Amino acid sequence: MTEEPKIIFEELLICPVCKTKSLKAIDYLYDAHDAGKLVLSNWYCENCGYRFRDVKPYETREPKIIELKIENENDLKTIIYRSAFAKIIIPELGIEIEPAGVSQGYISTVEGVLEILLDEVGGYCDEECENRIKKAMEGKITFTLIIEDEAGLSFIKSEKAIVKPIIMSE
Ligand SMILES: [Zn+2]
Repeated sequence: MTEEPKIIFEELLICPVCKTKSLKAIDYLYDAHDAGKLVLSNWYCENCGYRFRDVKPYETREPKIIELKIENENDLKTIIYRSAFAKIIIPELGIEIEPAGVSQGYISTVEGVLEILLDEVGGYCDEECENRIKKAMEGKITFTLIIEDEAGLSFIKSEKAIVKPIIMSE
């Protein structure tokens, strides 16, 4: 006997392919008994048909830091999800973006994240820093993408990604 999967996350996101806000993101919690609790993601864009599916252990939904070293063009195509609660840090580029109140979660590629950052950092990023972001987008710089997420919702879809728990200080 298995329980019905429960919806634990539901949000309308910007689609990484067609860029319209029609990506219906739904996560289900599923009790697979022997395999433990699993989170099934079934995300579907109603505009262009893009689909994202994923299964991961529920236990990973704790405050965590995810790190990915971007070393080649392939790494730039890695799918990532930044939740609305996540901070983005790229030490090599001197970038640190706090989860702003208005900022929404989004799914994108690493390259797409840099594109979004380029839009967002306009205020404090000078020309030199913009050029570095552009170089990073072309795969000319090795850098580390760090997502710090207190909600534990974010993910990087890569076997190279390193996940560490956030140690909360009092
Ligand atoms: Zn779409």
